[in-house]
Amino acid sequence: MRTDDESGGPAGLRAPDVPGEGPWLGGCDTAAADFRRAFDALPAACQIVARDRRFLYANQAAALQGRRTRDEMLGRTMGAVYPGIELSEMYGAICRCLDEGTAARLETEYPIPYGATGWIDVHVQPIPEGALVLATDITPRKQVEQGLRRLVHFDLLTGLPNRSHMEECFGRLATHGRTGNGGLALLVLGVRRLRDVNFALGRRHGDALLRAAAGRLRSAVAESAEIARLDGDHFGVLLAGAGSRAVAERAAAALREAVSGPERIEGVTVDLAARVGIALSPEHGTDFPSLLRNAEVALHLAHQSDSGQAVYAPSADGFTPRRLALMADLLPAIEQQQFVLHFQPIIELDTGTVVEFEALIRWKHPVHGVIPPDEFISLAEHTGAIRPLTLWVARTALEACRELHRTGLSLTVAVNISARNLGDDAFVDQIERLLAETGARPGWLDLELTESMLMQDPDRAREALERLGKLGLRLSIDDFGTGYSSLGYLRKLPVHALKIDRSFMGAGGPTPGRRDSVIIRAVVDVGHAMGLHVVAEGVETEDGIDALKKLGCDRAQGYYIARPMPVEDARRWLRESPWGLRSIRPSA
Ligand code: C2E
Ligand code: MG
Ligand code: MG
Repeated sequence: MRTDDESGGPAGLRAPDVPGEGPWLGGCDTAAADFRRAFDALPAACQIVARDRRFLYANQAAALQGRRTRDEMLGRTMGAVYPGIELSEMYGAICRCLDEGTAARLETEYPIPYGATGWIDVHVQPIPEGALVLATDITPRKQVEQGLRRLVHFDLLTGLPNRSHMEECFGRLATHGRTGNGGLALLVLGVRRLRDVNFALGRRHGDALLRAAAGRLRSAVAESAEIARLDGDHFGVLLAGAGSRAVAERAAAALREAVSGPERIEGVTVDLAARVGIALSPEHGTDFPSLLRNAEVALHLAHQSDSGQAVYAPSADGFTPRRLALMADLLPAIEQQQFVLHFQPIIELDTGTVVEFEALIRWKHPVHGVIPPDEFISLAEHTGAIRPLTLWVARTALEACRELHRTGLSLTVAVNISARNLGDDAFVDQIERLLAETGARPGWLDLELTESMLMQDPDRAREALERLGKLGLRLSIDDFGTGYSSLGYLRKLPVHALKIDRSFMGAGGPTPGRRDSVIIRAVVDVGHAMGLHVVAEGVETEDGIDALKKLGCDRAQGYYIARPMPVEDARRWLRESPWGLRSIRPSA
């Protein structure tokens, strides 16, 4: 039997069944012995395979790597030495090299002890004797790469794939046309109460909540769906074949159901719940960033909806680049005096006289033209610009009111305030200072607060209203009927008027016997029982005025009387309009 030392190494090339010695051996024994030693010292596995697939030569590293002695290898075919090797990529490359003379380089897996997998970097080179196969063990490098890949593609906290992984999956599905019949749906789940748990119990509990949500999600979702933790408390589920609205909505409802329910976290029971935003591909985006953006906008809409889920709708998407630009423009616009007030009269229905003007803000933007308040007030609330803005409105309105009083018109002025103002501890003092600075009497100012705004934080709102009431101001509840306040709560507020939302007015005004007029009648009765004035907004017709009188409404405001107008026009209107004239020269 040949020993490794005698027959292994390049000297093996000289075995009788070896065709030729190869020019690189130089046909010399000393050279062959030197080569043998040199090749055995190489850390890389080095093998020569003949055209008939037999091993002609294997160095020591090759024997170690393949866990065969050289005796077991030399003179035998690759298939006989390594059963099953015929299926491998490496075998294919070696055969192509032997048959077609093509060199190749590849990285491939191979089994290592204890069921683990190693990696080798293989060079296959044609030589006169057949193929020279050099294999370098790159397992440590691959393990580092896999670790990095894990870091890059997986979320360490939940073990779920992360956003970049989901983006890759989306790309694969889209490029291979495997989006299923009817496209794709991306569902973004927002886990509720994470912040509460973090604040109340600490981050450890918050992390446990996220892991619990991830676990529930994983068991609720089919193998074929891709799940990811996108960031913070947002998880994504990508569903192929769910691009129709109805299918995606059903899936979202099922996911919310699966994720919801009490979860015991280190001795504390937390009620897990989620809201879901849905975006469909291709309808709402053909690339992952747009689809994700739209699903997150939909999640934002879901937070405001009763059902707890929402499908992306471009018409409800306020997060446009224009909005972002306007946000940045807001504060400088106050200094640059780009805002103007328009005034809309409110009449007393009994006498037909003007009793008040509501101050309504407009933004004369140097690039975008006139922007209505509905487009920028929420931005101002978001950025905090609402504080200086409301003070500017109140000051300008009070100055205009003071001018009217100078000409003998004892009218009040209504100013809309926002929830952010009510939550601001300095607000009441600032209003008091404004009254002093403008020389206006507190009774000239009517502050309008929407019903929904009061309900955001009823206790705080009541506290602020009580302080404002003590200043001697009038307070009105705006857009009444849209905000779910309870009568018990309203009764405790120091308010003077209810303004019925204009949505109850109908196109031609309230029609006797119809639902709207029944509601108006009910609001009038409740308002009067609480000692409040009832004002109707959005009156557009004479019939509307008549109907409101019959329903017992006290005051009215609307296009039929006058549209909101700049202060100079309002002064002219008071002199020229029949309504205004009655105020100037009240009928005896
Ligand atoms: P609001 O306080 O309920 O004001 C009434 C809105 O109804 C005004 O819209 C007014 O132009 C409109 N309106 C009045 N009569 C009629 C009518 O007969 N038919 C119809 N279709 N509409 C009528 P505007 O000026 O666009 O203001 C919209 C909302 O923006 C206001 O609703 C108010 O909530 C808010 N807003 C306006 N100015 C300010 C402000 O200075 N500060 C704050 N925080 N909000 C403001
Ligand atoms: Mg108002
Ligand atoms: Mg209103």
